[in-house]
Amino acid sequence: MAVSIKSAREIELMREAGRILAMVHEKLGKIIRPGISTWDIDDFGTRLIKESGCIPNFLNYNGFPAAICVSVNEEVVHGIPSKERILQEGDIVSLDAGLIYKGYHSDAARTYGVGVISPDVAKLIEVTKQSFFEGIKKARAGNHLYDISNTIDEYVSGFGYGVVRDLVGHGIGTKLHEDPQIPNFAQKRRGIKLQPGMTLCIEPMINMGYAEVEWLEDDWTVVSEDGSWSAHYENTILITEGEPELLTMAH
Ligand code: MG
Repeated sequence: MAVSIKSAREIELMREAGRILAMVHEKLGKIIRPGISTWDIDDFGTRLIKESGCIPNFLNYNGFPAAICVSVNEEVVHGIPSKERILQEGDIVSLDAGLIYKGYHSDAARTYGVGVISPDVAKLIEVTKQSFFEGIKKARAGNHLYDISNTIDEYVSGFGYGVVRDLVGHGIGTKLHEDPQIPNFAQKRRGIKLQPGMTLCIEPMINMGYAEVEWLEDDWTVVSEDGSWSAHYENTILITEGEPELLTMAH
């Protein structure tokens, strides 16, 4: 399948989808504290998305039962919100959220510390976020897709962390997951040439230990195989002639 190039009108709609999601994430970030359940986070996020006149795109996606993926500690992604899962001081929690505005999708993830976290865990979160910003330095027209992958891998590997390989970033538009797939680890080939109007989700998932992951019995929750804690950071971006535009960040 070809990678879609968005028209000026489509880009406007994706900007709005991204702007609303940035607001949702900002508000979600403020409720993270010891004592709340992962269900509370999803409930609040679902209401924010719906009150904005948007549709939560994760809800019922391949049967996923919530609007927000809430993944705690060794959970990498796709954690299912639960009233029984209460955040504790020192935990970390990754929130992956997305929505549809007038037929166009946005998708973004953030990882937060719960209360006071240990310095090594804080560093994992910081490096994961920074790896996104390192990667998107290459996200401009004329470069190749895997320039982004190689840059993320090179940056993260310097810290001895494991870059998750079983899950990757993706194109986005009228569907949540479009071509191309965007690995966060080094590639032998160069990948497609980036063009203005491509909209991509760049989303490094980084384990403090080894890169290997496994799926829990619920068939959704992805955890690190060695039990090491994991962080996730993602934005929907627009490729332009110059700097990429971060659609899911407040400006
Ligand atoms: Mg994504």
